[in-house]
Parts: sequence; structure tokens; C-alpha cells
Amino acid sequence: MINLVNPVIGLKEKLLTREVLNSKLLASGKYVSQFEQSFAKYSEAKFGIANSNGTVALHTALLMCGVGYGDKVATTPFSFVATSNSILFCRATPIFIDIDPKTFNINPDKLEIALKREKNIKAVLIVHLYGLPCNMDMILELKKKYGFKLIEDACQAHGAKFNNKKVGSFGDAAAFSFYATKNMTTGEGGITLTNNVKANKYGRQIINHGKKLGTHSKCVILGYNYRLTNIAAALGIAQLEQLESWIKKRIKCAEKYNNNFKNLNFLRIPYVPEKCRHVFHQYTIRVLIKERENFIKYLLNNGIESRVYYDTVLYKEPLYKQLGYKSGLCIEAEKAANEVLSLPVHPSLSKANIDRIIEVVKGYKHT
Ligand SMILES: *Cc1c(COP(=O)(O)O)cnc(C)c1O
Repeated sequence: MINLVNPVIGLKEKLLTREVLNSKLLASGKYVSQFEQSFAKYSEAKFGIANSNGTVALHTALLMCGVGYGDKVATTPFSFVATSNSILFCRATPIFIDIDPKTFNINPDKLEIALKREKNIKAVLIVHLYGLPCNMDMILELKKKYGFKLIEDACQAHGAKFNNKKVGSFGDAAAFSFYATKNMTTGEGGITLTNNVKANKYGRQIINHGKKLGTHSKCVILGYNYRLTNIAAALGIAQLEQLESWIKKRIKCAEKYNNNFKNLNFLRIPYVPEKCRHVFHQYTIRVLIKERENFIKYLLNNGIESRVYYDTVLYKEPLYKQLGYKSGLCIEAEKAANEVLSLPVHPSLSKANIDRIIEVVKGYKHT
């Protein structure tokens, strides 16, 4: 079976984590701050606050931007549920904006319509879905015009670039995940990035029980225990060293798929706009709804795992229905949920694996 995910754990991961275990400094430790600095530097942001996972990295980012009770936050409905849940954690209200059907990312034109209509949208939480950056030219222009706080959910987009600038460096804050399936992993883990000195200080309090920075300090705001462990940070340091080479492999694999799949009329290959470096956390095609179930079964019968990310829009989740959201809100996102399918693109695929996937996909007899 060719799996959709296969994390690479090298010798350095084993050496560094063993060193941490031997040191007995399992919680806080030197690797946490070292990892924060290296990941922030890699992503071209000033500060990094390591935390326990991508979900709390998002919560931290929103709190750093002052999002609170009753605030409106515009976001995409086509993402992992943690994106909009993090808005609910702040007791704020998600305003769902439809996607661009070509990129699967938030549609800036639709965002502007909402900004005009709603007036008081406090923040915009964009998602660089599958590793493809949002249209940052248009989004930054809207930020200038309407003055909202901008948060990037870059949980799938480590190393992605727009205009040759890394994602995670554009907004007021950004969140990354190091979950086991992401382009680099610490098992569970996350980081919040910012370029703002005050936001960085505030974020450090948020992840450590709301305590003022420094030793024996007092609890001054409502904070959480969102810290990353030294063990996880050691993994992160080793993984980050490999990240660029893994991204290059993903891009090469995607290019090979594109060349072989572009003329198949039952699927549509991923669209990558100019100015974008797509890091292919997922290689996601579109297949007509009547074809998708059959195609998934066919792939599986031929030893290839594939997966639908995501089979529903967020506002159709039962929790969101209870909150009063109705079907039909974002037509393009709903259509995408019916048609997307992700194929294996991870860096441990061999040339033989990739050739096999190409051969099987090309051999599909569609209805
Ligand atoms: C993975 C992911 C998250 C959450 O990260 P965790 O580390 O699993 O908590 C949030 N948003 C998106 C888009 C993700 O892919």
C-alpha cells in the first residue's frame, strides 16, 4: 500500500531527543527557544512562540490580535475545523467567506463584500490551504483599506512563499502546526509567529498561565498551559534542517503528476498562480462528484491510499448548525467539498511509487 502520509524520522531526531531524555530537562529547555528562533528565522518573522499544537497556536494568535467576546472574524469555511473553532474559543463569531474555486483559498473579492456589509469585522483569519499561499497582494490591500487584524493559518504551509516572501510573515500573527501528518513534525506541536514586540510579549504570557515574563512572576491575565516540550522542540530542530529538501521533493513530484495528468479529462490538476510557491502539503485534484467514490475505490484496489480534505464545509458541522449557520452560505466551498481528492505526494515516495501512481491514475476508466 502506498500511504498518504509517511513522516521521515532521521538519525538527528534520535540523537537530539536522546540527549534531552538524558538531560532530564523534559519540559522547558534550551531546544524550545532555539527552535523558536530557527523557525521564526526560516519563516522570515521576528518572533516565534512555540506551543503545544496548531490549534492552540491559532488561539494564541487570535488573542494576541485582541480578538474577544462578540468580535466578528472573517474566515474560510473550507479548512480543518480547528480554524473556525479557534475563533469560537475567543467567544467571537466566525463570518464565513466563500473560496476561489481555482485556488481553494478565501476569495478576496467576496471578503471585500463582507467587509463592506458587516462594517465591524475585527480580524481576518486566512488559511494557506494545502500549502498554497492566499493572494497576499489583494488581502494586504484590503487590510490597508479596512484596517482589520490579519492572522494567517499556515498550518499546512511551512516554507510556502508569495512574491518570494514566506507565509507567516505577512499578517499580525500566524500559526503553524507540527502534527505528525504535516510537512514537518514534532508529534504534536505548533508555533505562533509575529513581527510585533508587544504581541510577542503578550503571546508568551498567554501560553504560560498569563504570568508576567520573568521568574516567580504573577498571573496578570487569563492564560493557558500551551507550552511545547523540550523533547518536541529537539525533534523540530532536526526536522527543520530537512524541510527545504522535503519541500523540493514534494514540488518535483507534483510537477511530474501535473505533466502526466493535465490531459486527463476526468480530473483537474491543482492550479498554482504566478508569484506563489506551493509546498504541496496536499496534492489535491478535482474529480466530478459522481466519479469520486469510484475513483477512490479503484485507487485503493490498486494499493494507493487517497483522502478527501475536506468532505464538508465547516458551517455544516453539527456544532455550527446548532449555532445557526445554514447550508448554501458558500456555494463554491460546498462544491469543492464534493469534488476534491488528495493523492500521496510525501517525500518518502520512491520513483517507483510515483510512477506506479501515475500509471494507475492514467489507467482509470471513467464513466
Ligand atoms: C493541522 C491544522 C490545524 C491544527 O493543527 P493541530 O496541530 O492538529 O492542532 C489548523 N488548521 C489547519 C489548516 C490545519 O491543517
